Amino acid sequence: MKKKIILEEEQMPRNWYNILADMPNKPLPPLHPGTKQPVGPEDLAPLFPMELIKQEVSTERFVEIPEEIRNVYKIWRPTPMFRAYQLEKALDTPAKIYYKYEGVSPSGSHKPNTAVAQAYYNKKEGVKRITTETGAGQWGTALAFACKQFEIECEVYMVKVSYNQKPYRKVIMKTYGAQVYASPSERTNAGRAILAKDPDNRGSLGIAISEAVEMAAADPHTKYALGSVLNHVLMHQTIIGEECRIQLEMAGDYPDIVIAPLGGGSNFAGISFPFLRDNLTQGKKTRCIAVEPASCPKLTKGKFMYDFGDTAGYTPLLPMYTLGHNFMPAAIHAGGLRYHGASVICSQLLKDGIIEAVAIQQLECFKAGLQFAETEGILPAPEATHAIAQVIREANRAKEEGVSKTILFNLCGHGYLDMQAYEDYFAGKLTDHTFTDEELYANLEEVKNLQPA
Ligand SMILES: *Cc1c(COP(=O)(O)O)cnc(C)c1O
Repeated sequence: MKKKIILEEEQMPRNWYNILADMPNKPLPPLHPGTKQPVGPEDLAPLFPMELIKQEVSTERFVEIPEEIRNVYKIWRPTPMFRAYQLEKALDTPAKIYYKYEGVSPSGSHKPNTAVAQAYYNKKEGVKRITTETGAGQWGTALAFACKQFEIECEVYMVKVSYNQKPYRKVIMKTYGAQVYASPSERTNAGRAILAKDPDNRGSLGIAISEAVEMAAADPHTKYALGSVLNHVLMHQTIIGEECRIQLEMAGDYPDIVIAPLGGGSNFAGISFPFLRDNLTQGKKTRCIAVEPASCPKLTKGKFMYDFGDTAGYTPLLPMYTLGHNFMPAAIHAGGLRYHGASVICSQLLKDGIIEAVAIQQLECFKAGLQFAETEGILPAPEATHAIAQVIREANRAKEEGVSKTILFNLCGHGYLDMQAYEDYFAGKLTDHTFTDEELYANLEEVKNLQPA
């Protein structure tokens, strides 16, 4: 009865998995907002190094992980997988619950898996500085760490509500040498325009993306990095699921259900795509469930449309489930899930019925997170509690139905820097939030005008 399943460094997978190779319907192309024509590599070149642009459109099934990246990964990878015996016992469920723990990384989440890769390819192409946005601070921390590993400057636009709620995140970023600004800021046209209209604006990921993109586009030595959503980001995260495959095989098991929270889609993709490969190519039937907050329900209530990835409209138009690029999520604490859209790949998979999505209110999530901490000991990130809530629902269902299911979920980060959220929960300050349809769809009117003819 092993509690944790550990891999040796030599067992670390050597390839990322690219699900584009196996998707029955490839995603629609991103479009230039002016011409409504597909964007080409030259449109992306001011923002990203060429190797990442190539990965973005590649349909190769496996992409080799360069040794330089693997050497940095070794600081925390392979990550452990645990069997949640204590939680199973508390739930009195016949289900077997496994979790992959990405919180052992230097920044405490899965984000360095792509940050390290992105910093490496930028360095290789001579880039001097990378700008980015961050919500809860997880991505900014990861990129700051990765940039320091490869000696690149790092400039982070942090959503203001998180900047104020999570002061220690900025201190960690500074420790890794990054510059951190609260967004909306006075440094960019996008930030100034929003502050002129609304000086108390609390910020959103969409706004912060606009600011970071604007700064990168203005300087030939500066590029931009995104911590989620893009195809290459999802691909870098698949090392999570590739490790899980080996670890579950060591445990003599295979998942019936794979669960992860979804902000933009990267950690969900990371843990689930290597198992979806078996669904798509071998007829396996693993259910892959993405969990979003009910206060930002793009997958379950949004519409599949072309929309901007950011608020100001600097990005290409992306075909995805969206609540509209002007959607303001309720100020819940799961900052990493406050995004109006979802990755193009995850959106297409959902549209095709290949993955499932569910929205859960924050009180149920925190309750689940606490039960996890009480039983398994690790304090989960607020984002990760969304996965745990769904795991508990599935484990209870297995109990009702009297069947044993194997459930794997991604404990994508720890919550030790999210204590304000837990304190607010204990103080009874957190509430559930349900948008009316009117509130939800107001922002989509404008998006309708962006659709190609
Ligand atoms: C960023 C983040 C998320 C959401 O982003 P995805 O790209 O959907 O994975 C979820 N959990 C944690 C801990 C994060 O840092």
